[in-house]
Amino acid sequence: MGTRSLLAAWNADPPLALLVDRDADTRKLYAEYLRLSACVVEEAEDGREALAKAISHQPDVIITETRLPGMSGLELCDLLRSDASTRNIPIVIVTADAFHVPREQMPAADAVLFKPCLPESVLAEIYRLLDRSTELNDETRSIHEKMSRQLTDAHETIPDSGCRRTILSRTYQRVETTEPPVAPPSLVCPDCDQVLRYQRSHVGGVSARHPEQWDYFECVNGCGMFQYRRRTRKLKKVSS
Ligand SMILES: [Zn+2]
Repeated sequence: MGTRSLLAAWNADPPLALLVDRDADTRKLYAEYLRLSACVVEEAEDGREALAKAISHQPDVIITETRLPGMSGLELCDLLRSDASTRNIPIVIVTADAFHVPREQMPAADAVLFKPCLPESVLAEIYRLLDRSTELNDETRSIHEKMSRQLTDAHETIPDSGCRRTILSRTYQRVETTEPPVAPPSLVCPDCDQVLRYQRSHVGGVSARHPEQWDYFECVNGCGMFQYRRRTRKLKKVSS
């Protein structure tokens, strides 16, 4: 399976982002941009709602403010990290609290962005965390450019340079291999019930703490290529 097929797999699998901010205007600003950039977006206005949605929706990434009503964003991070079902979901903190969040509390997050922060910086961080930065196609890129021009016009207080950013975990090494760390499961084709033929795996994820493995299979009867994601244990068709 070549790079083209992997790209098709990414494009067929838009990331689900959970956006947590008490301010409805901020949520709207980021959510609209992310949706135009082919993300699926869920929103939450406080930590309790965020925790419930994280557990029920299993988002690919969580973006949260630190200042939330009730529990803080940092407390939310701790709870997400202590629950087995949400432990491995990458977290991006987007905060106005540049000088008030103790650095030792940050490791629960995978990246920290400081407001004012352009939506495109948030998107870039999501792509970086999900290993999709190279998959931005020309069409998506032109939407980004158009949107960021509009947003810069509409929000003159936001600097063109985006925002300051702190990376807390180094990018984990990603490889394509036919001998992945976890043996691929035996699966049958959802369309014709034939045993699927294993092809190769893509091993990656955000960091050693958040390993991910995608196994690729082909149906011998020609139903298509299938992708199995270990973290979600979901099998989906990626090409026919
Ligand atoms: Zn089949």
